[in-house]
Amino acid sequence: MSKRILIIGAGPTGLGAAWRLEELGHANWLLLEKGGVAGGLAGSVTDDKGFTWDMGGHVQFSHYQYFDDLMDTLLGADGWLHHERESWVWIRDRFVPYPFQMNIRLLPRDEMKECVAGLVRLYKNPPAGKPANFGEWVDATFGAGLARVFMRPYNFKVWAYPLEMMNATWVGERVATVDLERVLNNIFDERDEVSWGPNNTFRFPKFGGTGSIWRECARRLPAEKLRYGAEVVRIDTATKKVHLADGSSESYDHLLNTMPLDKFLRQTELTDLQPLGDKLLHSSTHIFGIGLRGKPSAEVQKKCWMYFPEDNCPFYRVTVFSNYSPNNVPDISEYWSLMAEVSESPQKSVPATPEARLEEVIQGMLNTRLIASRADIASTWQIRLEHGYPTPSCERDAVIYDVLPKLDRLGIASRGRFGAWRYEVSNQDHSVLQGVEWVNSLLKGEKEMTLWHPDVVNGVKR
Ligand SMILES: Cc1cc2nc3c(=O)[nH]c(=O)nc-3n(C[C@H](O)[C@H](O)[C@H](O)COP(=O)(O)OP(=O)(O)OC[C@H]3O[C@@H](n4cnc5c(N)ncnc54)[C@H](O)[C@@H]3O)c2cc1C
Repeated sequence: MSKRILIIGAGPTGLGAAWRLEELGHANWLLLEKGGVAGGLAGSVTDDKGFTWDMGGHVQFSHYQYFDDLMDTLLGADGWLHHERESWVWIRDRFVPYPFQMNIRLLPRDEMKECVAGLVRLYKNPPAGKPANFGEWVDATFGAGLARVFMRPYNFKVWAYPLEMMNATWVGERVATVDLERVLNNIFDERDEVSWGPNNTFRFPKFGGTGSIWRECARRLPAEKLRYGAEVVRIDTATKKVHLADGSSESYDHLLNTMPLDKFLRQTELTDLQPLGDKLLHSSTHIFGIGLRGKPSAEVQKKCWMYFPEDNCPFYRVTVFSNYSPNNVPDISEYWSLMAEVSESPQKSVPATPEARLEEVIQGMLNTRLIASRADIASTWQIRLEHGYPTPSCERDAVIYDVLPKLDRLGIASRGRFGAWRYEVSNQDHSVLQGVEWVNSLLKGEKEMTLWHPDVVNGVKR
């Protein structure tokens, strides 16, 4: 008899594993999903006015040929729209192209001087030793000026934790560092340095938002092996049994968990590991969809997404979601749409009611001139994701390096954005590959690269 594999969660990680099991001809598996539809955090919804929303602007960044091929297979060559990755920072009443640090010439003169002075001081006195946390890393990499003007306020807005509570090792490829000579040349030559261009494109599903990818993936898997409305509430690791909210249970030889690791541990009898799981930090994310009549202003018309470091608005990022696909709005000749993201944690609160939160977002969009008038608003939609970002806190690595191998030895793999809590490998491509590589390790004895070697997988396209 072949080994029985149970998968908890129909997000990209669980679906990636299921897809690979089918590919390798291992038929003995079952996926349990508590929701009614596949996709998890990479799902999409269409509101009652006909606007489609992702759970925050999702872009396909791929580090893997396997992921690219899967995307082609699922939606076909015609199923996608291709865009340049235009991203901008709104600061001091103007747009500065991202990466911000390369374009400080666009700042008011005093602040440009402050940023350059910080970089020159770093150049003259390079910091000795390794930074102890993300805050120290920011200061040591960008200098005091850039840290004060952009890096610190922006990162607090995104992460919702003081930078000193985050580790300095997750950063990898995710934050572009600074080349002083290039910064100065850009100032003297009055040149904008943008990170987009013909080779820096992304694709987005023509119809149905990002979630359409995962709905299609689930549709192509054997229907009898995907069980929706199946919430796992208890895992008995000694008898290898998973108990569901409806009172039923399922046995396994190998279990793949993709629900948040701390929650998973609390559902087991592994009382020694639970306090470790409880040390993991996360932030919640509020997503706001604002459907609008008319057309975006000339400034916003071509932009993909924008970062907002200042306190004149609650959001850290806004996506012009109608630019990703015209089908994200009911009729592109009449409507357009913006999607905003706001973070929350015990260290960063938000207004108590959904109405008050929405009001802050709308006022923020007026303050930052994203929208001209409240009268243009045709639809509003919002959702709170309890688990939005897995915080790469100072204690995180010690927890996952201890807990995950212990679970592995019990026949349990905890993988994916919150299953493994590794932000640096928690996008859709990483998540799919975490599922795929786990199956490859189980059935073919291959090494799992994504989970344990983020720098390697993020450094090369394979
Ligand atoms: C604001 C935001 C922006 C993002 N932007 C991007 C982007 O631009 N590009 C990109 O590639 N990625 C992006 N991501 C990340 C992307 O959403 C994740 O990579 C992906 O969804 C993670 O997949 P997963 O399967 O690991 O987890 P999830 O998507 O969280 O799926 C887990 C699944 O498990 C189910 N589940 C949980 N508990 C139980 C239970 N007890 N029983 C049964 N089922 C359960 C859940 O319902 C869910 O369906 C973003 C995420 C957020 C929050």
